[in-house]
Amino acid sequence: MDTAEMFLAEFADWAKKDPKVNALITKAWNNDITYKDAQKLASMSGKKLGEMMALQLSDGGSLGSLDIKMLRDFLNKSILANYNLVTPVINQAQLVINRALNVQLNPIIAKFPRDRVNGLAKEIEERGFDAVVGQLLKQVENISVSTVDDSMKENVRFMGSVGFRVTVSRYYDHVGVNHRKESCQWCLDRCGVNVPYREALEKGMFERHPGCGCILDYTSEKGTQRQVDWTRNQWV
Ligand SMILES: [Zn+2]
Ligand SMILES: [Zn+2]
Repeated sequence: MDTAEMFLAEFADWAKKDPKVNALITKAWNNDITYKDAQKLASMSGKKLGEMMALQLSDGGSLGSLDIKMLRDFLNKSILANYNLVTPVINQAQLVINRALNVQLNPIIAKFPRDRVNGLAKEIEERGFDAVVGQLLKQVENISVSTVDDSMKENVRFMGSVGFRVTVSRYYDHVGVNHRKESCQWCLDRCGVNVPYREALEKGMFERHPGCGCILDYTSEKGTQRQVDWTRNQWV
């Protein structure tokens, strides 16, 4: 096993053994999961992954001298491992909502953010690891939680577009990295309760800066739906 493979095995091992991660995954398979739970998981696993990556990539770490191609490869593989941990839970959270609405709708999952990950690799290469380590930690967590937000956004957009009454809520949590020191106007501008989905999209309620701990949620009620092939999520 090379170092990158060992690293991935170590992360998988952490996910398998961490009691909090396990509790959330068990909840997911028992169909008792919410987007809030998925956000919690994504935040925990993203934070853990970021810390593990920082150790490997630091001067004293075994991957301290990777060239850009290998660095990009390592970042993509590592963040993909986290994506593969988080996305089945997002899928379940959306399925719970779909089942409650009694619709045969396939959950939509946000694509792996390859460009963003490659951008991060480029940043490390250009500015050096030490200059970006703090940012790396926040970015890896943010990429993880944004997968939950972006998936929610796509499901909200789709449900709204086919006639469900969809409202979005975003709560300010006071514990995010920026939120602790002083109140964050950027987030406060994007918070709101039961905001109609179109307005929520315009208001940027699904956007999240690194270190943000806002909690996102939505409700969906049956309205007058357009004819939809629910298995393919397309209009017929
Ligand atoms: Zn904020
Ligand atoms: Zn926030």
